[in-house]
Amino acid sequence: MLNRVHLFQTIERVALPGQPAGALLMVRMQRLREFEAVFGYEAGKALVDAFEVRLRECLRAVDEAVQIGECDFAVVLPGLRDLNHAMLAASKVARAFMHPLEAQGRSARAIVSVGLCMASAAQCPDQLCRQADVACQEAARLPERVAAYRGQAQPQVVYGDLHQAITTNRLQVYLQPIFGMDSGTLCGYESLARWEDPVLGFVSPELFIGAAEKTGLIEQLTRWSINATLRHCAAAFRATPTLQCGINISPIALMAEGFVDQMAAALRIWNVRPEQVVLELTETVFVDSPQLIGKRLTQLRESGLRIAVDDFGTGYSSLSYFRHFHVDELKLDVSFVRDMEHNPRTCRLVESMIRMAHSLEAVTVAEGIENTVLWNRLRDMGCDLGQGYYPGKPAPAARALAEFGAG
Ligand code: C2E
Ligand code: MG
Ligand code: MG
Repeated sequence: MLNRVHLFQTIERVALPGQPAGALLMVRMQRLREFEAVFGYEAGKALVDAFEVRLRECLRAVDEAVQIGECDFAVVLPGLRDLNHAMLAASKVARAFMHPLEAQGRSARAIVSVGLCMASAAQCPDQLCRQADVACQEAARLPERVAAYRGQAQPQVVYGDLHQAITTNRLQVYLQPIFGMDSGTLCGYESLARWEDPVLGFVSPELFIGAAEKTGLIEQLTRWSINATLRHCAAAFRATPTLQCGINISPIALMAEGFVDQMAAALRIWNVRPEQVVLELTETVFVDSPQLIGKRLTQLRESGLRIAVDDFGTGYSSLSYFRHFHVDELKLDVSFVRDMEHNPRTCRLVESMIRMAHSLEAVTVAEGIENTVLWNRLRDMGCDLGQGYYPGKPAPAARALAEFGAG
């Protein structure tokens, strides 16, 4: 039950002067909506119930968990010695969700993020909750899924700043090279947007893309991204007709009216063949509106553009959509690649994903390859293309094109 009054009273108790330190955890289950879209609302509810049971199992008797949203729980942790002890408690919660949950006889892994904030008498409960929430958003971007509030909020990306950055062309295109794993030769690039604001400093793409999606600026940002990428790559494309470039397309921009025409116009303006452009879409796209998306993807593929599934394997939607859509590339998410070093099961999983992609006539691209061991292992598994800090970091477009031999 949503019970903020009870939560706030409990917080006030743990934050009293003279009490041992207390902390607040914000525990969030991500992607419930995607799960429900595939398995139904009843299954979604069963998953949340199982989530709550698992959460309570890893708390002490003195801790109090209060559900404050559909997939959000606040946990008050009284009597802790310091931040380190609170971090141990937060990590324990995150680890508890590494194992799948049972929901209506179906095994499902909940994706959790845990934000932590130490309570002090100086904060009001509302402030403590908001700070734990900031940490929880940060945790969602980290592989360990846990973050502590660091005393200052992430730079607030405001509409005006981002709008101005887009319209005055202050965003930059970075390109990260992608290589054939067998040959070691350059096959193409992925375009990644960068924003360095004079006041905010370097703002991470996840932050400003998220802000653009929330504020309605994503269509403008996508238009900029497509045009700026093609402008940089056009000459290299003509010089090397086999070269390709991936462009990340937000689901919102893809579904916006006129996207297909806009894409066609950009190809015309920059005189680029569609076969040289790969649209990178995350799995969410396939779940949200399968009918509409089917039509749109068919149109785009028929015009010659290539379609890649980005961050493959991280959404609940995995696999079911392959029955209906033909995709050209599967990009194995960085989290799998990173985990391969320590977990033999992940290696076997990645090998199966590569085999599956090949049987669907899709090319596999491994993201986030950071060392030679991973590179060799993925190559031996038959992965087609590789991308990561080891073969080449993202660099400003002109430099990347010159450095990696396509300038
Ligand atoms: P993504 O499309 O999955 O991009 C791959 C991310 O992995 C990039 O992060 C890249 O810098 C990072 N990466 C590459 N090699 C390595 C490695 O070896 N190790 C690690 N740890 N990471 C590596 P980046 O540039 O921060 O972008 C994050 C996400 O932001 C992208 O994920 C993409 O979803 C989104 N994004 C970036 N640019 C754009 C854009 O122009 N438009 C849209 N819609 N989204 C964008
Ligand atoms: Mg991508
Ligand atoms: Mg990715």
